[in-house]
Amino acid sequence: MTRVFNFSPGPATLPEAVLRQAADEMVDWHGTGMSVMEMSHRGKEFISIHAEAEATLRELLDIPANYKVLFMQGGAIGENAIVPMNLIGRTGRADYVVTGDWSKKSMKEAKTYGEIAVAANGEAGKFTAIPKFAEWKLDAKAAYVHICSNETIGGVQFHWTPETGDVPLVADMSSDILSRSIDVSKYGLIYAGAQKNMGPSGLTIVIVRDDLLGHALPITPTAFNYKMQAEADSMYNTPPTYAIYIAGLVFKHVKAMGGMKAMEAHNRAKAKVLYDYLDASKYFRNPVAPQDRSLMNVPFKLKDDALDETFLMGAQARGMIQLKGHRSVGGMRASIYNAMSIEGVQALVQYMKEFEAEHG
Ligand code: PMP
Repeated sequence: MTRVFNFSPGPATLPEAVLRQAADEMVDWHGTGMSVMEMSHRGKEFISIHAEAEATLRELLDIPANYKVLFMQGGAIGENAIVPMNLIGRTGRADYVVTGDWSKKSMKEAKTYGEIAVAANGEAGKFTAIPKFAEWKLDAKAAYVHICSNETIGGVQFHWTPETGDVPLVADMSSDILSRSIDVSKYGLIYAGAQKNMGPSGLTIVIVRDDLLGHALPITPTAFNYKMQAEADSMYNTPPTYAIYIAGLVFKHVKAMGGMKAMEAHNRAKAKVLYDYLDASKYFRNPVAPQDRSLMNVPFKLKDDALDETFLMGAQARGMIQLKGHRSVGGMRASIYNAMSIEGVQALVQYMKEFEAEHG
């Protein structure tokens, strides 16, 4: 069996060791005679899986005790509504920083639930840079400020954390959670879909500071009420049990690799291989301002876009898949999440060099 180099933006490549362990444990988890998929979420076996997943995540991200970790459903797009429903009630207003397609979508969805202001917007520059903090127009009465730490489509990433004072900072970290160390205490709330760096789709992680619980709008569905879920240990409804189990295995794998510092070094090394080549190339280019380039999603264009299909077919023939850029921006995009090896990125760059030599 050969595994491909999978550059998909998500659902995305996962550590092979985790997939193999899951395969070994598929029909009989630890001698219980059951698959994790078949376990009651209230049974002691699953409760131990859930508790260990949470404990490992807390350890990896050094999550302070006054934050709850919730395992929810609905994805990050679900959170676009769930966040305002739970948080905006304190003042009725929120600020959104628009740095790409995902944060723009979050901002639009939030409008149903309160007064939404755009504190900064990178659209005039085609989302190729994060607007400078000095230019943000922040409202001291906002219930929160929302950012997307890594724009999966445009490939821009925050390499600094905005200081928003008493106004809680909320971040969609779907595509860069667990890729580097973060200071959780600088955020009021972090949310992320699991399907890039954590596990299968269907699971959403929410990390929320205690004092932000209890302000939900009356229309909030109980299953999406953070306080209710926190009080029920994320088991007000049946949680996505199998996805939590896989995420738990991924967390342990990341810990065994050395935790966030080691992961960040691995991700920086990989991204450097690709960006160094892109900057040297006369045929391929990445449009993003160097200081805001994503370590996770690297969009790039060919000089001659008539050759896009040829490029993709050649990549496929070499075992490299899912390099097509998002339909809204075109070109290519290499998503190089935690589980992408440096060999995968080197193979891509080698192919790009050959392609440039032939067509450049
Ligand atoms: N936010 C970001 C940054 C994303 O990358 C994605 C998915 N690519 C989403 C939100 C939406 O996630 P979902 O479809 O799981 O709701």
